[in-house]
Amino acid sequence: MASVQGQPSAAGLASAFRSGWANRVAPIAALAVALVLPFIGNDYWAVILSRAAVYWVLVAGLNLIVGFAGQLAIGYVALLTLGAYVTSVLAAGNVMPAMPLVVCFAAAAIAGGAFGVIVGLPALRLRTFYFAISTLGFATIVTQIALAWRSVTGGGIGLSGPQFPEPFDTAWGFYAVCLIAAAFATWISYNIAHSRFGRALVAIRDADVAAEANGISKTALLIPVFLLGGALAGISGGLFATLQTYITPDAFTFDLSILFFIAILIGGRGSILGPLLGTILLTILPEIAAPLASWSTFLYAALLLAIVLAMPGGISELLDFENRRPLTSGRAIVPNPALLSGIFARRPAAEALSLKNVVLSFGGVRALDGLDLDIKPGHVHGLIGPNGSGKTTALNVISGYYAPQQGEVRLGGHPLAAGHPAQRARVGIARTFQTPHVVGEETVLENVMIGGTVSGRANFLATLFSFPGRRRDERELTAKAMRALEAVGLEALAPVRASRLQHSELRFIEIARALMLSPSVLLLDEPAAGLSPDEIKRLGALIGEISRHGTAVLLVEHHSDLIFAICERVTVLNQGRVLAHGTPAEIRSHKDVVSAYLGV
Ligand code: ADP
Ligand code: MG
Repeated sequence: MASVQGQPSAAGLASAFRSGWANRVAPIAALAVALVLPFIGNDYWAVILSRAAVYWVLVAGLNLIVGFAGQLAIGYVALLTLGAYVTSVLAAGNVMPAMPLVVCFAAAAIAGGAFGVIVGLPALRLRTFYFAISTLGFATIVTQIALAWRSVTGGGIGLSGPQFPEPFDTAWGFYAVCLIAAAFATWISYNIAHSRFGRALVAIRDADVAAEANGISKTALLIPVFLLGGALAGISGGLFATLQTYITPDAFTFDLSILFFIAILIGGRGSILGPLLGTILLTILPEIAAPLASWSTFLYAALLLAIVLAMPGGISELLDFENRRPLTSGRAIVPNPALLSGIFARRPAAEALSLKNVVLSFGGVRALDGLDLDIKPGHVHGLIGPNGSGKTTALNVISGYYAPQQGEVRLGGHPLAAGHPAQRARVGIARTFQTPHVVGEETVLENVMIGGTVSGRANFLATLFSFPGRRRDERELTAKAMRALEAVGLEALAPVRASRLQHSELRFIEIARALMLSPSVLLLDEPAAGLSPDEIKRLGALIGEISRHGTAVLLVEHHSDLIFAICERVTVLNQGRVLAHGTPAEIRSHKDVVSAYLGV
């Protein structure tokens, strides 16, 4: 890793890291193979490969929901069914005059999107397991409706799928249609995955508390993703109906849902290439092993078990050569505080933070019992006290996780609404956690970029179609994240998966992530825990320099040397109450503090 240290263009470096060869070369290679196949294969293979492409159109969207956001939507065959029936019924003219194909597919996308959101809504409230069951319930309902509504769907007898005109009515002609749809689905899911939205999805999956602190609202994020996943599933359903030529409710078995889900799991969470290969593999496998067709469910289950046991990261982990190289041992973290000026340029004037008479009890425990705090811009304010004295609770109140039962939190004189942690990032309040919350499966750089989610400007739609705004956002976020990493001294680890780092390094990732907001207020919860004495000194210099850029820093720490070295003011808590308050010199000689806490 040392080889990448101290190179000039941080942004260039970072973009080279982010696009590993597999991500770039593999889709192009896959497309090349797909284009050559018609010249060497027969019609039978055209059907199999079309099927893989049709499934992938659905899985590409579902992958964002399951693989990225970690929402267990297992009943997705329901949306395939919906899309298949909407296109077939409209094309057949069963309810109104027969519609052109484009209209049928647009209607399938709209219906799929709408139901994608409706089925997805429970995910915003229910825990994963209950959500999974609710999607299954929906799948059953759709099949029952298709069976019972005979006048429209043909009931158990079914109806013909939409037919494509020349030249797309041959096996290879239709294959071309499916291939274009699959390439399009890959492209838009890639655009979302490699954007602030994609990183935010992974953050709500693996570090939801940190996601909120970085301004990510689960609801605002998941709704467009459910819409997208549903629309793709609807289109996939239409293509599926054409491919089958004739559909009945039995065509949409639960096995299909399982196939989609397992394709993502064996592909690897948070990857596009992995689930793409997984889908192709699972479509082709039963054909190669035709005598085993009746065993397909069993085969899937065995495959899944093998993957979970032998390579939990799935195919994408197998292809992740970058993270096989050993890291240098005995790494020291050497921040470079001089680089902070690049991060704090163009920041509006920082504001003071104040707490007035904040009271918060948990059952019988008064965690905060009338806490007053005033933290000025440009000051480091120490918050110390024995374990359980309410320090972390104070931070949680400031960052909006807890609503105080009395009292209020103000920033620059304006009261902050309680219970909306995701809004704190927008007003410039950033924090780190006592136990670091990082996304282990993402790179260090991506973790830091999560901190810049609220500063991105391209909206979901612009990102989906990769309008220039998305690329500009990515460039700016990457450059700023690299600068933040250089400032905290972790730039050499930028391309490394965060789960491979030491605990102390995770603390510095969190600081870099917090710096992405160019924060007005920075809350640090025991940042020195687990650091060596030298690292603590360097951390102190870094925090001091952050405050000199005007940030109000609230530092919770047990290392009193650090507190007394860099704080302008110190508040000592005991059982939720302020035991003492003053300059470090006053606190050090305060009788009650010495006996209750410093223990000298
Ligand atoms: P500190 O960070 O100073 O060690 P905390 O703020 O974590 O202390 O905790 C203060 C008190 O509040 C402790 O008695 C703790 O058990 C209690 N507490 C904190 N969070 C919760 C919670 N979510 N539910 C119940 N009790 C809590
Ligand atoms: Mg604590």
